Amino acid sequence: MVGSAMGMSEKNGAAEILIGDLDPNGVFLESLSNGVDFDGEHHAELKQNGKREIVLGRNVHTTCFTITEPDANDESTGDKDAYMASVLARYRKNLVERTKHHLGYPYNLDFDYGALGQLQHFSINNLGDPFIESNYGVHSRQFEVGVLDWFARLWEIEKNDYWGYITNCGTEGNLHGILVGREVLPDGILYASQESHYSVFKAARMYRMDCVKVGTLTSGEIDCADLKLKLLANKDKPAILNVNIGTTVKGAVDDLDLVIQTLNECGFSNDRFYIHCDGALFGLMMPFVKRAPKVSFKKPIGSVSVSGHKFIGCPMPCGVQLTRLDHINALSRNVEYLASRDATIMGSRNGHAPIFLWYTLNRKGYTGFQKEVQKCLRNAHYLKGRLLDAGISAMLNELSSTVVFERPRDEEFVRRWQLACEGNIAHVVVMPNVIQEKLDDFIAELTEKRSTWYAEDKDQPPCLAAELGKENCACKLHRT
Ligand SMILES: *Cc1c(COP(=O)(O)O)cnc(C)c1O
Repeated sequence: MVGSAMGMSEKNGAAEILIGDLDPNGVFLESLSNGVDFDGEHHAELKQNGKREIVLGRNVHTTCFTITEPDANDESTGDKDAYMASVLARYRKNLVERTKHHLGYPYNLDFDYGALGQLQHFSINNLGDPFIESNYGVHSRQFEVGVLDWFARLWEIEKNDYWGYITNCGTEGNLHGILVGREVLPDGILYASQESHYSVFKAARMYRMDCVKVGTLTSGEIDCADLKLKLLANKDKPAILNVNIGTTVKGAVDDLDLVIQTLNECGFSNDRFYIHCDGALFGLMMPFVKRAPKVSFKKPIGSVSVSGHKFIGCPMPCGVQLTRLDHINALSRNVEYLASRDATIMGSRNGHAPIFLWYTLNRKGYTGFQKEVQKCLRNAHYLKGRLLDAGISAMLNELSSTVVFERPRDEEFVRRWQLACEGNIAHVVVMPNVIQEKLDDFIAELTEKRSTWYAEDKDQPPCLAAELGKENCACKLHRT
């Protein structure tokens, strides 16, 4: 039985060791046997040829909170309650600490939704179409449609011309947008830059679409010269494009106007292409950045999606997807069981998320978001400057708050600050909760550790000219 109020890790010596002194190689091997990923590509790269190895996360099984059956001889539930309370208390403490040291993922962790606590007693579900009430009455469509209208104004489409819904995440928005594109242009080829989010390529596999990867510039933007070549090579088929409003790794913004111009130059009239804008990250930042290209349904685009838990700061994963009503009428089905229409990817839909979005959009409004965006861009510039001053290669795209820099050599450090890494680079996404003080702590720790990684003259930091551009590279050769 569960006797110890201290928790379960003591029961499992291995778990303690894993948490205490992390051995990256040990974790690597362990995860290898357990790591199942969607396409198996990663496993291929994991071959231990001593070259490029992807460090997967640690195996959660060794640290899980076990669920125990009540002891038949034990009349009281006191022990069990104490066990559960202690697990939750420790978990909460861990969340506080992990939140404090989070820098790598684009989640705004600064919010206060205390007023919504009263709603957690309800099973709110918006299953079906947001605009067609189903027979299930415990829903929040009033909030959902209010939020959608707000985004419709932002992206300049009339109330009667759009359709959309609150998704479970940005990925679902991409899956939906690309599906609409395929339904509108059934034999279309999907074009996406190689720095697009993995969900775009997942969509291509799921829908068995032909997919052409387009090259990128150093900034991470789609290379329209390459796009042109690839469009011309497939002129006989319509084009479905994923345009990135903020790429995941470098925060690069594809030039929507240039993409449209390229399509036209290659002879694609507006009825022979469909554009989905993946605005998961910057969909709600760009409208508030001066000089930024505008995402608008006045342009020939088919859909836009954004993640609700990123910049907007919803404490649960969610997203917003908007498309044109004509497209949806063509592909949806009425479902008698729901007394609603089936036009979404998922069936049941989180009814709490729209209320959180409604709450935060009301509170902050355009001016609130504008202030937050400015703060993020300022702090991102500050971070980049401090990194370069410390002799660390770093890059920041003009419209972005994603600071890309030399990947720290120590996986424990990467985990501690929850940095996202790819190849030789890592990034910090400066969100509203990432204040200067936190950045100062981070830099102090990084520079201190780094001096030990490159203590010997033969240990030189890698050249990152290819990834970040010569002007941002601080390697021995490129530093000035
Ligand atoms: C995060 C992200 C996504 C996926 O969003 P989720 O909400 O995590 O599913 C898609 N595209 C880009 C560019 C992203 O940064």
